[in-house]
Amino acid sequence: MNEGTVERRMGNSKPLLLLAVLLLAGCAGVKDTSRTFQTVVIDPGHGGKDPGAHSRRGGLEKANALDVALHVNDDLRRAGLRTVMTRTCDVFIPLNDRAAISNMQENAVFVSIHFNDSRNHGIRGVEAYYNSGPAAQLAGRIETNLGRIAPIRFRKFARFRVLRYNQYPAVLIECGYLSNNSEAGLCASPAYRAKLADGIAQGVIEQRYGEEAARRLAEAAPAAAQRPSAPRSNWSPESLSR
Ligand SMILES: [Zn+2]
Repeated sequence: MNEGTVERRMGNSKPLLLLAVLLLAGCAGVKDTSRTFQTVVIDPGHGGKDPGAHSRRGGLEKANALDVALHVNDDLRRAGLRTVMTRTCDVFIPLNDRAAISNMQENAVFVSIHFNDSRNHGIRGVEAYYNSGPAAQLAGRIETNLGRIAPIRFRKFARFRVLRYNQYPAVLIECGYLSNNSEAGLCASPAYRAKLADGIAQGVIEQRYGEEAARRLAEAAPAAAQRPSAPRSNWSPESLSR
């Protein structure tokens, strides 16, 4: 290859390069993997030095969120989905890293799990947040399932960082208010948290496989609330990120 050829080729590649840049810019939005995803990134909110919300009756948000997330992980793996958890123990993970863990996956959706807090102690119920159209549908499926066990407050667009920096459909679920006395009492119960987890997982499974297939799966593999809890000592980050 002589220099002339190289120069011509480089010259020809300029419009292509420009096109690639434009395409990349166009792809800066969320990839719609909401019906094809193979991986679910499960993000237990807070952790380590960041306890999140807390109340005497409801306990710590970071601990409740991790417990729900571990059950969701269990349910989803039983349904044949690959899962990745942003944390599996009481450790602080920056928000950007949580989104980055999601963005490293090939074909995923992202579910962040939280518990809520308000100065108005009368407020209770579940909230779901999303940052894109495909994520709105996933948030709706999860809320419909959670609605069987808890009052639903709303489903809303939000610009939370874990959602905004995510290239995949991403939702954030507020499972209940630790500041509300009766809801805090429920959230402190492992059995209730297992039901919350089952609702979240069922919503994800319905979104992926459709309602009918999800129902058959649920019959074949009993959900977390119907099973004795797995000994936590057997959990390891390696076994959870498969
Ligand atoms: Zn939170």
